[in-house]
Amino acid sequence: MIDLHTHSTASDGTLTPEALVDLAADQGLAAIALTDHDTVEGVPAALARGALCGLHVIPGVELSVHWDGSGQMHILGYYLRTDDTRLCERLGWLRDRRRERAQRIVEKLRGLGIQISFARVEGLAGGESIGRPHVARALLEAGAVGSLGEAFGRFLSPGRPGYESKEELGVEEGIGLVKASGGAAVLAHPATLKLNPAALAGCLKELKAFGLDGLEAVWSGHSAQQMAQFQALACNLDLLATGGSDFHGDNKPEIKLGTGRRNNVQVPDTLLDVLRQHCHKGAAAGA
Ligand code: AMP
Ligand code: FE
Ligand code: FE
Ligand code: ZN
Repeated sequence: MIDLHTHSTASDGTLTPEALVDLAADQGLAAIALTDHDTVEGVPAALARGALCGLHVIPGVELSVHWDGSGQMHILGYYLRTDDTRLCERLGWLRDRRRERAQRIVEKLRGLGIQISFARVEGLAGGESIGRPHVARALLEAGAVGSLGEAFGRFLSPGRPGYESKEELGVEEGIGLVKASGGAAVLAHPATLKLNPAALAGCLKELKAFGLDGLEAVWSGHSAQQMAQFQALACNLDLLATGGSDFHGDNKPEIKLGTGRRNNVQVPDTLLDVLRQHCHKGAAAGA
C-alpha cells in the first residue's frame, strides 16, 4: 500500500520528513508522496531517508489555487523536478505572501487583546511555509483556546475575526508549473470544490485542458459514495484516480498515515507505475 498525500514540518504537519518516512516504513507502506503546502523544502531529506530504509519517496507538492468557485481547489504535483527554477521562484513568492498574511493575522488577534507574537508563530512553523495551523498552535500555547479546532472555529476560519485570505496561483498556472517541471498534476480532494456531479465533470474537463492528469478519488474526508463517484468520473474522463490520507501528524490526529480516517483510505502500489508512466508520457510529449 502507498500514501500519495502527506504533510511534514516543512509545512503544517508535525513530523519531520525523516520521521514521516520512518513511520511509513514501520507501517510497511511501499511508498509515500511528500506533498507539503507551497514548498518542496522537505523533499531532499525525505528522499535521503527513503533511500536508507528502502521506502520509495515521490517528490511532491500541494498548491492552493484560485478558481471561480466558492469551494477550495488544491492541486497535487508528483514526481516533479524540485530544483526547477520557475517552480522554486513561484513557490517562494507564495511563501512570502503566506508570511505577510500570518503577520496580518497576528496583528488582528493582538488587536483583540490576545498576546501572541509573530516571532513565536514563525518559530512554531519551523519550516518555510507558514499557515493558519501554526497560528492555531500559538493560540493554544498562549491559553487563548483549549484546542486547535477551537482556534479555527473562533478565530481563524472565514468570517471569524482572525481570518485573512491567502494569495493563490491561478489554476492554469498551478497545473502548468507542475507539468513544466516534469510532474503529474492531480486535483486534490474533489469534494472540497463543493460541486454537484455535473458541475464537477465540467470543471474537470476544463482542468484537463490545462494539463490535469488525475483526481484524488480516495481521501480521508470522502464518503464511500464520493470515492465511487470520483473513481467513475476519472474513468469516464480518462483521468487517473489517485488516493492519499492527507496525513498532518498531531495537527489532525484522527487521520492516520496510509489508512486515513477509520481505515477509509487504501491505495495499492500498482498505482505507482501508472503515475510514473503518465509523467514520462507527459515529458515525452513536451508537456
Ligand atoms: P492555510 O493554508 O494557512 O490557509 O491553512 C490551511 C490548513 O489549515 C489546512 O491544510 C489544514 O491543515 C488546516 N485546517 C483548516 N481548517 C482546520 C480546522 N477546522 N481544524 C484544524 N485544522 C484545520
Ligand atoms: Fe494542511
Ligand atoms: Fe488540501
Ligand atoms: Zn494536504
